[in-house]
Amino acid sequence: MTLKDKAAIVTGGSRGIGKAIALKLASLGADIALIYHGSSDKAAECIKEIESLGVKACAYRCDVSSFEETKQTVAEIRKEFPSVEILVNNAGITDDTLIAMMSEESWDRVIDTNLKGAFCMIRHTAPLMMRRKTGRIINISSVSGLMGNPGQANYSASKAGIIGFTKSCAKELAGRGITCNAIAPGFIATDMTKDIEEENIVKAIPLGKMGTPEDIAEAAAFLALSPYITGEVIRVDGGISM
Ligand code: NAD
Repeated sequence: MTLKDKAAIVTGGSRGIGKAIALKLASLGADIALIYHGSSDKAAECIKEIESLGVKACAYRCDVSSFEETKQTVAEIRKEFPSVEILVNNAGITDDTLIAMMSEESWDRVIDTNLKGAFCMIRHTAPLMMRRKTGRIINISSVSGLMGNPGQANYSASKAGIIGFTKSCAKELAGRGITCNAIAPGFIATDMTKDIEEENIVKAIPLGKMGTPEDIAEAAAFLALSPYITGEVIRVDGGISM
């Protein structure tokens, strides 16, 4: 199975789960347009790593929560990658606090990045896929969106929203040969989870350990290669949401 001659956009692709997904898709032959928000140096290092796998890779700085910025960035990407077959909406943030203390700004920021960000990217990329009657959209949700989590009302809402959004897109775009699926990771060892007390979390995970970014990348590659799965949510969580 190969993704040769296909191009993939991966948001939040310069570290953690996004980086692992970009490297995995590249290892299967996909060219990579990597969207990052933080350090340009880190993105440049990541591009070098991807290029060493023998594919084309370019990095684009963009805030996915901005409709205009994402529109311009997708237009820039099109100049280098005339067709985009795969879109991975991975960029995401947390801003955890109890609901009684949560600010409006915290609610908006998390929803805008995690949920509106996926909307912005699909809104500007789906028309390109529709024209070619093929596409794979993969949205990164979370078990927090399936089960809820105290202290994460904003995050859970954004990730549950991603699931409804994924299913609507799947139904709407199926006739154009485009699949749209979500992955719901459990606890994965990245910058996002570096401050949690691993010992307590691990006790609740049936497989007895946190996941790795590569565990999520495997599922993303599977979905990128699967033509007959759409509207699905794949849990990659060591069994924690059973
Ligand atoms: P991470 O913090 O290492 O990576 C998040 C990435 O998103 C970073 O590259 C960051 O720069 C990017 N980003 C943040 N805001 C952005 C914006 N406005 N525009 C563009 N990019 C932006 O975390 P991670 O664990 O690799 O998370 C990746 C995805 O997986 C997120 O959507 C997260 O919610 C989800 N997830 C993670 C876990 C986990 O346990 N780590 C569990 C479930 C879901």
